[in-house]
Amino acid sequence: MYRTHTCGELRSSDIGKQVTLAGWVQYIREKGAVSWIVLRDRYGVTQLVFEEGRSQASVLEQLKGIGRECVLQVKGAVVERYSKNSEQETGAIEILVDTLNLLNPSSTPPFTIEEETDGGEDIRMKYRYLDLRRPTLRRNLALRYQVNRAVRNYLDTQGFWDIETPFLIKSTPEGARDFVVPSRMNEGEFYALPQSPQTFKQLLMVSGYDRYYQIVKCFRDEDLRADRQPEFTQIDCEMAFVEQEDVLNTFEGLFKHVFKEVKGIELTDAFPRMTWDDAMWHYGNDKPDIRFGMKLQNLKVDGDYKFEQLKKVDFKLFSEAQSIIGIVAKDAAEWTRKQLDELTEWVKRPQIGMGGLVNLKCNKDGSFKSSVDKFFTPVQLQELASFCAASANDLVLFVAGNEALTRKAASELRLHLGNQLGLRQPNEYAPLWVVDFPLLEETEVEGHWAARHHPFTAPKPEHIALMDDKTQYKNIKANAYDIVLNGTEIGGGSIRIFQRDLQEKMFAALGMSKEEAQEKFGFLLGAFEYGAPPHGGIAFGFDRLCALLGGQETIRDFIAFPKNNSGRDVMLDAPSAIDALQKKELGL
Ligand code: ASP
Repeated sequence: MYRTHTCGELRSSDIGKQVTLAGWVQYIREKGAVSWIVLRDRYGVTQLVFEEGRSQASVLEQLKGIGRECVLQVKGAVVERYSKNSEQETGAIEILVDTLNLLNPSSTPPFTIEEETDGGEDIRMKYRYLDLRRPTLRRNLALRYQVNRAVRNYLDTQGFWDIETPFLIKSTPEGARDFVVPSRMNEGEFYALPQSPQTFKQLLMVSGYDRYYQIVKCFRDEDLRADRQPEFTQIDCEMAFVEQEDVLNTFEGLFKHVFKEVKGIELTDAFPRMTWDDAMWHYGNDKPDIRFGMKLQNLKVDGDYKFEQLKKVDFKLFSEAQSIIGIVAKDAAEWTRKQLDELTEWVKRPQIGMGGLVNLKCNKDGSFKSSVDKFFTPVQLQELASFCAASANDLVLFVAGNEALTRKAASELRLHLGNQLGLRQPNEYAPLWVVDFPLLEETEVEGHWAARHHPFTAPKPEHIALMDDKTQYKNIKANAYDIVLNGTEIGGGSIRIFQRDLQEKMFAALGMSKEEAQEKFGFLLGAFEYGAPPHGGIAFGFDRLCALLGGQETIRDFIAFPKNNSGRDVMLDAPSAIDALQKKELGL
């Protein structure tokens, strides 16, 4: 038997027991006649003690050959520690070792394997198997497993079946590029790796498996923005004979269950719902952080004055702008010139792209002061403040310009101010459903439309008629929904099209010819002819959900073997070239 206990297990109540432990040497410390080793495994750390007079000379001799990360097996008695460590679970005891067995030596690790490490990102990725020994990552993977289990338990109680779907498939459009795999047996032909199991889960509904889920890998060949992975995990779900309301309720239940199991937090209230239109209008984006207010004040939108009095103001920046949006920062009227200059620089950065920032201070004494005073009368300033619902001691900031850019900038500015004002507390959770997404969105190529969610999403029944008129495309709303937590989208789904003719109409709207639709999706169109039930579903980003529950920003630290920002596995050195024979066999 390699061990009687783990390194996280022994307590004062075990004092006097004879035990065997196995694990890795975290570090060794010597002080005069006494030496200590901290032994680590997945469960924790236990201190080992060696002392002249108390330990056998042969064991003390063995210590000389031992360094960090060696694998040891030790036998000895559990004894009370002189100086206890209340921060360690095993901190009241230590093991007085009488037998030491070096199971495997270790080279000196390239970075320290402790809570805080001295290793940079690259070196830790290269030696991921060592980085994974660190408690931080171990806790993250423990949490990931806990979330996984909670999800499975909940879905099991709701009658969902976990059904696997293939990885070598034909392309499933979810808005990204496919990863492709050449077929040796079918020279010149390729499989695609699934961007999600979307069409398969729909086919399972056609087959009658009316509650399906999978915690499954998805593959998307995208330019990797900061926190994306080319392969990532989704909790993928589908239900038949449901309406949007059923789906939202079921998965709100899942979310609440996971929060309770993993964080011990009871989210008792029903999650608020917000339409996509409202989210864009009030927050400037479709995943609003509703932990704080500071809604956008729409003074002019798409050339249309919402605050009529502005028409009379002769201020070019405003009169020429397509849109003007204000944001009220509470109690910030006394912000210094320097702070305001910094904010101006912030909105001018290329990522935000605004020409500048106009401010209006609502002083405590009832007077107003603005960076563009000379264009406004005192009464106009007051009216402006009151339109924005600003009170004494508030600061109002305005951005102006092209509608899309300005709305995005205002949304970013709102979050930035929220951070500065301490309004985005990490331990406060504000989930939200965003509903009624547009079905289609115009691409960069004018007159070309893409599916906002994916091509299988159903338009609202009352909007189906609009599909016959291209000028109405922008007004078609879908039964599509996203779940958002603290400004991050963590899941999304829709009610699906389940009739062949409507699906064909949708493909046509996306610019696909009948032949192309048949060639790409003939299997699905065919299936819809054999009694497809009404159905709908959702998928959650599992990695992101774990990161959020772990209170961290990056998903990478919640994935055992992630890729770096250029999509490389630096440990494996993949992707890599393949040899000539392999290429030849694949017909490449
Ligand atoms: N397949 C979709 C996605 O990956 C989710 C869904 O519609 O269920 O975003």
